[in-house]
Amino acid sequence: MDLQFFNTLSRRIETFEPSEPSSKKVGLYCCGPTVYDFAHIGNFRTFLFVDMVRRFLEFKGFEVNHVMNITDVDDKIIHGFNASPEKTSLRDYTAPYEKAFFEDFDQLNCLRPTSIPRATDYIPQMLELIGKLMENGIAYQTPDGSIFFSIQRYIALGGKYGQLVKINFDEIRVGERIKSDEYEKENVADFVLWKARVPSDGELFWPSPWGEGRPGWHIECSAMSRHILGKSFDIHLGGEDLAFPHHEDEIAQSEGSTLCKEGGCKPTPFVRYWLHFSHLLVEGKKMSKSLGNFYTVRDLFQKGYSGREVRYLLLSAHYRESFNFTLEGLNGARTALARLDECLFKLRELAGTAEPPGKQSALVQSFDDALSDDFNLSAGWAALFDWVRQTNKQIAEEKLSPADAAGLLADWARVDSVLAVCPQKKEEEEVPTEITDLLEARQAARKAKDFARSDAIRDELKSKGWVIEDTPKGPRLKRI
Ligand SMILES: [Zn+2]
Repeated sequence: MDLQFFNTLSRRIETFEPSEPSSKKVGLYCCGPTVYDFAHIGNFRTFLFVDMVRRFLEFKGFEVNHVMNITDVDDKIIHGFNASPEKTSLRDYTAPYEKAFFEDFDQLNCLRPTSIPRATDYIPQMLELIGKLMENGIAYQTPDGSIFFSIQRYIALGGKYGQLVKINFDEIRVGERIKSDEYEKENVADFVLWKARVPSDGELFWPSPWGEGRPGWHIECSAMSRHILGKSFDIHLGGEDLAFPHHEDEIAQSEGSTLCKEGGCKPTPFVRYWLHFSHLLVEGKKMSKSLGNFYTVRDLFQKGYSGREVRYLLLSAHYRESFNFTLEGLNGARTALARLDECLFKLRELAGTAEPPGKQSALVQSFDDALSDDFNLSAGWAALFDWVRQTNKQIAEEKLSPADAAGLLADWARVDSVLAVCPQKKEEEEVPTEITDLLEARQAARKAKDFARSDAIRDELKSKGWVIEDTPKGPRLKRI
């Protein structure tokens, strides 16, 4: 089945075809983190969906050029940098947040993007793009030296504003009046491309043909995606909260730069498919620090949950449905994954060194069908847990040969190349020495018929999160 999904641009489900179908190459861009704080679970739900989409495209045989930027300059970063006691360099200030972000990213088993451009490394490309918009008469300078994008002139030259969301200009007028006064822009809906340097910026500024200053947020993504993926590329993804104005403005800037100043030119389409992910609720409410339902990923790790449990839960619902995250849900994730682990363990024992028969089971097909249908993850998980049930039954009835088991494991590996919830076999077998020492002590106690000691060790292991299972092949340690 061909991959189909909801394209925000056309507001309907479309079959995905890359711009170069024969090469199977896909250019994919996702707006990355702003590195001034730790990313929260709402941010990570988006990055997990991006990772799932990229992995599924690869599952389908596409070669994905995945770009995710790092926003390392904006108002909050400048404010934080100027307020920090040790002002060494902007890079020194943002580096610990960037490092923390990727630690969390890796813990959640997200594949590193092909390119991770930092905004401050692309200032020349941003200036070039602003220059092109100035040349086309779509951008203008205000008396304070800032450069704005003129939506009116963009539309007059043949550009289309409001491609992702229907824009009600009257409403924008009311909402943005104050900002408009502040920036002296011609039209309230216009947005900033280059912010002129102000005293509160301190030493954070870059030179430009229009005076010292710094880029606006929207132009960063347009310049970086264009430089790496070209004027037109396949998929742009992000949280639904970014659709307007950020993504809409990315379209306007990128397409505006392909218009001609005399008018009459057709814009080069910026992106062919837009994918937006629904927002996350936490314990039934919008996440906020004041409500006490605000979690970073590392908060959850500190509570003892693992990256795979968080990954499983955040990927359990459909990307177009808002999802209610709860700690109870994480406990459910733990139980579900333990069921899966148990089944895989038994299959590995059974398979031994047998080779898979080379034919695919129904699991890969049902999983492929589910995700090809607008990334229907719920159906994908359902197919997987059906498979777990059936496999357990077949194992109990001794209906599987080692080769059958190896085949089922090969199918599972295909599915997990997308879900990525199971550690590799090697990691799974890594039991801390402290725990294996306790197991040995327990075995010695049993041999000496010291059952009180043996029970005490069992309880100690339990308190450390491990249980012993006695199997025909000897005792086995299992995480609770
Ligand atoms: Zn962006």
